[in-house]
Amino acid sequence: MEEMIIYGSVGLLCFAIILFYLRKLKKESLDSEHKIERAIEDGIHEPVSLYPYIDPNSCIRSGACVMACPEEEIIGIRNGRATLINASRCIGHGACFHACPVEAISLRIGTEKRGVDLPHVNYNFESNVHGIFIAGELGGMGLIKNSVEQGRQAADSIFKTIEKNHNADYDLLVIGAGPAGISASLEANKLGMKVITLEQDSLGGTVSNFPRAKIVMTAPMELPGYGKLKLFNTSKTELLALWTDLISKYNIKILEHKKVEHIKKENSNFKVETSSGDSYSAHRVLLAIGRRGTPRKLNVEGERLEKLLINCSNLN
Ligand SMILES: Cc1cc2nc3c(=O)[nH]c(=O)nc-3n(C[C@H](O)[C@H](O)[C@H](O)COP(=O)(O)OP(=O)(O)OC[C@H]3O[C@@H](n4cnc5c(N)ncnc54)[C@H](O)[C@@H]3O)c2cc1C
Repeated sequence: MEEMIIYGSVGLLCFAIILFYLRKLKKESLDSEHKIERAIEDGIHEPVSLYPYIDPNSCIRSGACVMACPEEEIIGIRNGRATLINASRCIGHGACFHACPVEAISLRIGTEKRGVDLPHVNYNFESNVHGIFIAGELGGMGLIKNSVEQGRQAADSIFKTIEKNHNADYDLLVIGAGPAGISASLEANKLGMKVITLEQDSLGGTVSNFPRAKIVMTAPMELPGYGKLKLFNTSKTELLALWTDLISKYNIKILEHKKVEHIKKENSNFKVETSSGDSYSAHRVLLAIGRRGTPRKLNVEGERLEKLLINCSNLN
């Protein structure tokens, strides 16, 4: 009799635990479904750039990806599997990708619903226009570390294609001074190329637009002119200061507020024209313009400051 009571109690306890677990799963799923509905209404459910693709057949619902993501509710759990919620808010940290214990996550650009045309480049980063190369997020490779690595490799490839007797003013003109463009410019300089970089905004690319307090997550990388940069969590200020120091140390010519509008082929060189009417001749061109486009500015006083409080009643 006593044994039966013990078995019965254990059975009941197990049943209660299972019931609790199932109810928790159901609640989690319902929560995620509501959040997805809201994200669809707000237009933030579909990814716009890099996002985590979750293989439903490999996901084991460890929840590691949800916990690892430093942004809010990019991923949730539905029907026992990780699922995308506010995908367009993904900024490509890749923390979920690293955290997944079964490699069920890969980082992608473009979905079945929203295809993204990636430029065709060969293994030397050259596009189908001979002499024009592409590196960084524009080519489909997000994250600071990856862009830095691609910028460096692209400059190495370009160096091998420079014809000795070309008559352009520059061996290489880099468009965009984000992580990819900066790295390419530093590497090109290291290799002895005559290089100029045009940036429509300010040095740092997307990084320069990060909120000041944002923790920038990255991984050790080889930065030309510096060597192995052992960074994991850093800040926008630290990264920008490092790049600025290197650029001034090596006297790299980076012109800010120069928006490139036309690239014209001229024999074996290119004529690159900016919106302010300047033109530059270069033997090779590297497009490192990212994928974030040109953010629309409000044209209000002080909008370039770190912190800005706008009184909307004064706007027309
Ligand atoms: C909010 C946010 C947070 C992020 N956080 C992280 C993070 O913590 N860790 C991480 O690894 N990654 C992060 N990323 C992703 C990372 O910032 C990008 O993957 C990386 O900056 C891409 O580098 P890039 O050089 O290819 O392009 P970008 O950084 O986008 O630089 C491209 C540059 O080209 C310029 N440009 C464009 N068109 C022209 C033109 N016509 N003429 C002249 N210049 C032009 C742009 O002004 C820009 O400066 C984040 C992204 C965002 C949006």
